[in-house]
Amino acid sequence: MRPHVVLFASPGMGHLIPMTELARMLASPHRNFAVTIITKAPTLSSSGNDKESFRSSLPSSVNAVFLPTTDPYDNSFTQVFLSALSSLPFLRETIRSLKSSTRVVALIADFLSVDTSDVARELDVPFFVFGPFNLMALSFLLHSPAIDRETTMEFHDMPVIKFPGWCTEIHGIDLGATYQDRKSESYRLSLHMANQILKADGILCNSFYELEPGLASILKDKDPNHPPVYTIGPLVRSVPNQQVDSSGSIDWLNNRPNGSVLFVSFGSEGILSSEQISELAWGLELSRQHFLWVIRSPNKSSMTKLLPEGFIERNTTGLVVQSWAPQTEILGHKSTGGFLTHCGWNSVLESIMNAVPMIAWPLFAEQRINAKMLVNGIGVALRPEVQDGSVVPRDVIARVVKELMQGEGGRDARKKMLEVKAAGAKALSEDGSSFKKFSEWKKSIVI
Ligand code: UDP
Repeated sequence: MRPHVVLFASPGMGHLIPMTELARMLASPHRNFAVTIITKAPTLSSSGNDKESFRSSLPSSVNAVFLPTTDPYDNSFTQVFLSALSSLPFLRETIRSLKSSTRVVALIADFLSVDTSDVARELDVPFFVFGPFNLMALSFLLHSPAIDRETTMEFHDMPVIKFPGWCTEIHGIDLGATYQDRKSESYRLSLHMANQILKADGILCNSFYELEPGLASILKDKDPNHPPVYTIGPLVRSVPNQQVDSSGSIDWLNNRPNGSVLFVSFGSEGILSSEQISELAWGLELSRQHFLWVIRSPNKSSMTKLLPEGFIERNTTGLVVQSWAPQTEILGHKSTGGFLTHCGWNSVLESIMNAVPMIAWPLFAEQRINAKMLVNGIGVALRPEVQDGSVVPRDVIARVVKELMQGEGGRDARKKMLEVKAAGAKALSEDGSSFKKFSEWKKSIVI
C-alpha cells in the first residue's frame, strides 16, 4: 500500500503556497506518496484562490480537505495558533478515518500549527514540522528557549546576536514584534512553538545546503539538542497560475524591454503607511525606471487615493496593480530585472529561482533576518539606507532603485543571483543536496 502523508497548513498564502508545493513533491511519481492536505479554505478573493481553484491546482493524487470553520479570516500570529488548537478534534477524526483504510506514515504541520503534534502522538503517527523559512530563522527559533532561560534582558537591548554557522549577525530589533516584549502573549506563544518544534521527529526546511552551507553543516549532524533537520528546498510554485491574469501585468510586461522592470510587492499581508506609499510613489517616479507595483487595498478607488495626486495619469513608466498579481510569472518574465520585496521567504526563493536581484524592504516576522542574510550574508540584495522605523524618503528610494537597475551594486547582485539560482536548481536535481535530504527523510519514515 502506498504510504500516506497528511499535511496540515495554517491559513495565509505564505504557508499554503509552499505546503502545496511540498504536497506536489511528495505525490510526484518517483516519490509516490498518497497525500492529504488539510487547511482552511483560501480566502484571498482577489487572488482567485478560492476552494475550487485551490483544489484544481493540486495534482490528482493530492486530496484537499477543508476545515469546517466559519471564523472570519484572521492571520495574526496568536489567532493562527488558536485556530490550529480548535482544529484538533477534526484532525483527529480525519487521521483516524485515513488510518482505517491507508498507511499513514507522517503528519507534517507548518511551524504555526505545531500543537497538532498532540494528535499525531495520540494516534502514533510520526510528527514533522515544515518551516517555510531559512535555516537562520530556524536556528534562532531552536536557540530561543535557551536564551529565555539564560537571560532576562529584552531582545531589543541585545547589541548583537550571532550563532555558530550564521552568515551574518543581527540585532535584537531584527527579530520581529513577537520578540520585542517578553511579557507579551505572542512571545509566550513563540517560546511554546519553539519548544514544540524541539520535540518533533524532524524538521523539513524550505532552504538548501548551498544557500546556507555553514548552518546546514551544523544542523545536519545528529544532535541530541534538536530534531534532525532536512533542507529540501527551494520549493517554489512550479505550475503556472491557472487564473486569467486580471491584473494585466503580463500583457504590460510583454511590451517592455528585457530586464528593464522593477517589480514592487510586499507579499500577501504587507501594508505600508499612507505616508510611505506616497514617498515610494515619488521615489519610483524620480528613479525614471520601469516599475510594476502591487498595492494592497480593498478596491481601485481607495488605492488611487493613497497615491500622490496625478501620479497614475502622469507616470508613463509604471503600472500599478491593486492587491494581487501573478508573482511567479512576473518574476519569470524576461522584462523583469529587479524586485523590491518585503523579504517574505517565498518571495525570496521565487526571486532566487528566477535570478532576479532584490531591494530588501522587510516589514514583519522574520523578514529583517532574511534581509540581513540577503544583503550582508549572500550579496543578492541592496537595502535603502534609513533609520529604523522611519519613513524611507523619496530620494533614498530613487537612489537604491537606480543602483539596482543600472548601477554596479545591481550588477554584482545580479551576478551573484545567477550563481545562487544555479545552486538552487542543482540542489533539487537528482543527487542534488535537497534531493538527497528528502530521500533521507523518506527512509526515516517508510520502512
Ligand atoms: N503572491 C502572489 N501575488 C501577490 C502577492 C503574493 O502570487 O500579489 C504570492 C507570492 O508569490 C508568494 C506568496 O504569495 O508565493 C507570499 O509569500 P511570502 O512568504 O513571500 O510573503 P507573505 O505573504 O507570507 O508575507
